[in-house]
Amino acid sequence: MLELTEVVAGYGGNTVLHGVSLTVPERTIVCVLGANGAGKTTTLRAISGVVQRSGAIRLDGRSIGRASAEQIARWGVAHVPQGGSVYQKLTVEENLRIGAHLRRDGDVRADRHRVSDYFPWLSRRCDQLAGTLSGGQQRMLAIARGLMMRPRLLMLDEPSLGLAPLVVKEVFDAVRTISADLGMAVLVVEQNARLALRSAVHGYVLEAGAVAVSGRSEVLRADDSVRRSYLGY
Ligand code: ATP
Repeated sequence: MLELTEVVAGYGGNTVLHGVSLTVPERTIVCVLGANGAGKTTTLRAISGVVQRSGAIRLDGRSIGRASAEQIARWGVAHVPQGGSVYQKLTVEENLRIGAHLRRDGDVRADRHRVSDYFPWLSRRCDQLAGTLSGGQQRMLAIARGLMMRPRLLMLDEPSLGLAPLVVKEVFDAVRTISADLGMAVLVVEQNARLALRSAVHGYVLEAGAVAVSGRSEVLRADDSVRRSYLGY
């Protein structure tokens, strides 16, 4: 569904990705792992069109490497950036509606109900300002807002960052359930390799802007030298 071939990307004169190739099959969770500064976030930014990039990026066979960020979002790519970033001064409900603003079809209400099914507490807090939610709740609201786009591909940047272990489990459980229910592909960037490899079918380890190792999650998990050298556990 998503295919990157030899993608080069960076900021100004600073090239960060030096030819990254990766594939996300339909309805599949894929994770991108790697040390700080390896280029994980930049990979997601290259896909969503917010950094300079070259090389081939194809979504459902269509080239998106030159499309604008807005167009890519309209084609069904939702990007939940690091930290979740909700609109602090808007209510929970307003945040969710913003998630649907790129949609042209009229089925927003059904999606609103579905999002409440996944995160029941959202309905009880419709009028609460998003900035007054806990960190974990804000992260879940950011994911819920992404789901309101009804994306074909959901990209999550370090959903576990700064969250308590139980909340992290809740977030990943929700992502797994949603991906299975909606047949949605998920590309998740994580520092927490152990956790990510439990949810993802496939993993890519980035090192200095290039793919160092990739494979099915159970293979990466079982390979001692990969674990020691790249995954840190
Ligand atoms: P982390 O796990 O720490 O979030 P990462 O693997 O996601 O790291 P990136 O955020 O993609 O790494 O950063 C890769 C490199 O790009 C780093 O050297 C970083 O300093 C640089 N970089 C990131 N954002 C910018 C920016 N806006 N302007 C210039 N350089 C940047």
